[in-house]
Amino acid sequence: MSRFSIETFDNELALENPFTIARGTKETVPNVGVRLRADRITGYGEAGPNSRYDEDAEKVMAFVAQLPDPFFDDIDAPHAVAKKLHDVNMPVQSARAAVEMAWLDWWGKSHQQPLWKLWEAPSNKTPSTSFTIGLDEIDVMQHKVEEAAEYPILKVKLGTDRDRKIIRAIREITDKPIRVDANEGWETLDVAKEQITFLADQNIELVEQPMPAAMHDKMTELKQWSPLPLMADESFKGNENLDKTAEAFHGINIKLMKIGSLVKAREVIQQARARDLQVMVGCMIESSLAISAGALIGTWADYVDLDGFLLIKDDPFEGLELTTDKEVQLSDNPGLGVHPRD
Ligand code: MG
Repeated sequence: MSRFSIETFDNELALENPFTIARGTKETVPNVGVRLRADRITGYGEAGPNSRYDEDAEKVMAFVAQLPDPFFDDIDAPHAVAKKLHDVNMPVQSARAAVEMAWLDWWGKSHQQPLWKLWEAPSNKTPSTSFTIGLDEIDVMQHKVEEAAEYPILKVKLGTDRDRKIIRAIREITDKPIRVDANEGWETLDVAKEQITFLADQNIELVEQPMPAAMHDKMTELKQWSPLPLMADESFKGNENLDKTAEAFHGINIKLMKIGSLVKAREVIQQARARDLQVMVGCMIESSLAISAGALIGTWADYVDLDGFLLIKDDPFEGLELTTDKEVQLSDNPGLGVHPRD
């Protein structure tokens, strides 16, 4: 019998405000927690399955349930757990990320060290995170911007037929840097160029996923022209050829729920650096458990967008802090450094 036991638990998160992007509106997200136990130590992981990538809570639970027993007993290092999970022939990236996260949390705790120290992260905190303003009526969006006054960088979801109105309305009340995420919403090269031409005059730091992921050739043309950096999100899930990605984008947005592995995320960051690609670390709507894993990877990033845990009510985990500059700060506690709130 295995020393390890693994189980899933419901980690559905309710949002503080309904959250709208170009693809639709959400009020809750069906996240799934993973508990991995051995030697009286419990490691925790979290999956944030996203319908854009054809994942849901059932698929995450099925992934964990089908892991053979024993699965973890011969694993002695992070690259070994990443490899073994990669070899499981069931493509549920958020579940892979959650199981690996639980093992890493367990491993850090068994060494009585925070993971950021074991992994020699460049810092115990990320660059300042952006704070996302979801799509809404213009006056509601202005109100959200006012409520986000303490955040130094905003991220605004666009890709609508009223993008300019939204940016003008926000610019009436703040001049802080804005990152724009079109979520694949500009569907022709002409529309994308028109929107970016407008945005280039508005203190916009970068544009995430201007066009649909399927339009690589048009994106390549757009990059050659674009006055603003373009970041791949839906166009970069983790296994893409980075040389090809670099044709069409200035950088990549790595999310653990897309790439499925912290170990791989670290490797991809090195590969991106070798190609002069900028690196952003993003997230789905996640509790501070998965965000702590994202923040660990985010210590190597140029930009982070790790506000998922700030958008939910009743975070089921605690231990992650924000500095006054809204850098995400990892704790000195062992493992990922967070624990369930009682
Ligand atoms: Mg995005």
